[in-house]
Amino acid sequence: MKDIITIDGPSGAGKSTVSRLLAKRLGYSYLDTGAIYRAVAWKVNEENIDPDDGEGLKKILEAINITFNGDRIIVNGTDVSQHIRTSEIGELSSKVSAKPIVREHLYTMQREIGLKGKVVIEGRDTGTVIFPEAENKFFLDASFEERGRRRYKELKAQGAETTLKDTINDIKNRDNRDSTRQSAPLKRTHDMVYIDTSSLTVEEVISKIMDSLKTLTKFKSFGNV
Ligand code: C5P
Repeated sequence: MKDIITIDGPSGAGKSTVSRLLAKRLGYSYLDTGAIYRAVAWKVNEENIDPDDGEGLKKILEAINITFNGDRIIVNGTDVSQHIRTSEIGELSSKVSAKPIVREHLYTMQREIGLKGKVVIEGRDTGTVIFPEAENKFFLDASFEERGRRRYKELKAQGAETTLKDTINDIKNRDNRDSTRQSAPLKRTHDMVYIDTSSLTVEEVISKIMDSLKTLTKFKSFGNV
């Protein structure tokens, strides 16, 4: 399990940027598990299914085919990479991902991708449920204000109509749902290296992770990255 790195944490903590770059540096692949939940949410939205409709969700899961093509994510032949990044899909994905039927369905897919090895896998439960046996686990965090500011910047860059206050509120709601749900809640465990990214640059976060990797695994190959 040495070549699986898990990175969990709340939205806006910098997981995606850091994980993508870290994977590149290490020559690893990168799995954004949030994108998979967002893809399901996109389909749920397309089919006009209520996230509380268990039968509807079951039908969607039976028919859905999610694949990755480099950075792109494809759902039944449609490239949804852009469509899944809106705040509406973010909110819906948090509702949909709280359903055990959805998590069970996506578990195998994530395990299979991760078990190919040399992977940075990022999400909410990658170190607790998907790869509890991984040796290199990280938890990235940041203050609500900082996470709100980062998310707001992203949304504005996409041309979204929103305010910083609404963005921070959305983040609070999503965090609350993600951490209090019954099924695989977002949780920091004692075997994760905790990094508060509020006042750190991406490079500083990566450098902290690289230092920990060297200590955690005594991995010679990380020494010269
Ligand atoms: O990370 P991102 O914001 O793209 O994730 C969208 C939503 O997917 C999260 O709010 C969370 O509810 C859900 N998710 C999850 N488990 C993961 C990754 C994401 O429940 N491993």
